[in-house]
Amino acid sequence: GATIGILGGGQLGRMIALEARRMGYKVVTLDPTPDSPCGQVADEQITASFTDVTAALRLAELSDVVVYEFEDVDDQVVAAIENRVYVPQGSRLLFTTRHRLREKAALERAGIPVAKHSPVSSFSDLEAAADEVGLPLIVKTTTGGYDGKGQWRVLTRESLGAVWAEMENVVSSSSESAAVDPSDAPFIAEAEVPFVCEVSVVVARGATGEVRPFPAAENVHRDHILQLSICPARVSQDVLAKAQELAVRAAESLHVVGLLGVEMFVLQSGEVLVNELAPRPHNSGHYTQDACVTSQFEQVIRSVTGLPLGSPALLSPVVMSNLLGEHLEGAIQSMPSWPDTFKLHLYGKEESRPKRKMGHINVVAESTDVALQQLTNLGIFGVCE
Ligand code: ATP
Ligand code: MG
Ligand code: MG
Repeated sequence: GATIGILGGGQLGRMIALEARRMGYKVVTLDPTPDSPCGQVADEQITASFTDVTAALRLAELSDVVVYEFEDVDDQVVAAIENRVYVPQGSRLLFTTRHRLREKAALERAGIPVAKHSPVSSFSDLEAAADEVGLPLIVKTTTGGYDGKGQWRVLTRESLGAVWAEMENVVSSSSESAAVDPSDAPFIAEAEVPFVCEVSVVVARGATGEVRPFPAAENVHRDHILQLSICPARVSQDVLAKAQELAVRAAESLHVVGLLGVEMFVLQSGEVLVNELAPRPHNSGHYTQDACVTSQFEQVIRSVTGLPLGSPALLSPVVMSNLLGEHLEGAIQSMPSWPDTFKLHLYGKEESRPKRKMGHINVVAESTDVALQQLTNLGIFGVCE
């Protein structure tokens, strides 16, 4: 059978690999850590740095198709793989989505609304952003951030200096120096969006242009980390349709082949802004594993192997709760008394740390309210609502 190469060995790669094997494919993975979550379940693992071009070419040689499962990989390495083997997502999509300013520019070109923002390379840029974009501001590193890492909230002009001092540390500790081209700036300052809720849509697009969005999930973050995804999202039909429309437009304008996770803010007015994109399966799409006809992991394999896309139809209301390091102990202890509709997914990570994503639970139920109550009753996630 055909072999799927996976660049990146995290939990997303693991869940792609598990589905790929169920569907009869072989899997090879490349990650710097031996026995990474993905490596553990692959047929073969290459242990090497993501900047090791020889290792990347070896992955290409062993694979019929290569996918990447995270964004913080050098688009030049992906370009080298692309010269040897089919990389449906492509290095171009990675180049755009791994950089918050390039991503926002691409969204704006497609007519998709985003928060007011400006590039920041210097303290005076930060001061100018406070004037032009307004306060409160959320400042983010343009590359490499996830789970809210590399973000600062600025509430007052007086605090700009202290925030800049922390930001400077981040830049000088990386090799990047102050950028000349503003679109390559190391930071982006965004207006803080007064959202009523956050939703996301994972959309699949095949090489033929076929597009299928999954239903929108409503996302609850704690400390900037996703805690709950609730599907169906508790928003109007109008907002649901708009969210799917925006996701489809984003996938089409970026010529995605594979999946695109589209995170959005919903305003009181019903207006929807796109927060960020992920050119891969998305944490907020894990609910599809136990609640949809086709999971996002099966769908990514279908889209990159040229199979027709599967039905994204939702079979049951569902709530996904992430299991972070601090939840793990309580989860394992309470497992014997879990309702029989709790579906556990663990990522095989050796070391548990607070805030580290160790697994997730999908709860299918007659309503999302019932699922949320059952999660609250576990007593390890606090009040889920
Ligand atoms: P992820 O793990 O989703 O990749 P990330 O580190 O890339 O996260 P974002 O998605 O940009 O970060 O931000 C994390 C969360 O912080 C958002 O889901 C939202 O709750 C909040 N947030 C980020 N940007 C803004 C903003 N401009 N206005 C209001 N809230 C924001
Ligand atoms: Mg992100
Ligand atoms: Mg995000």
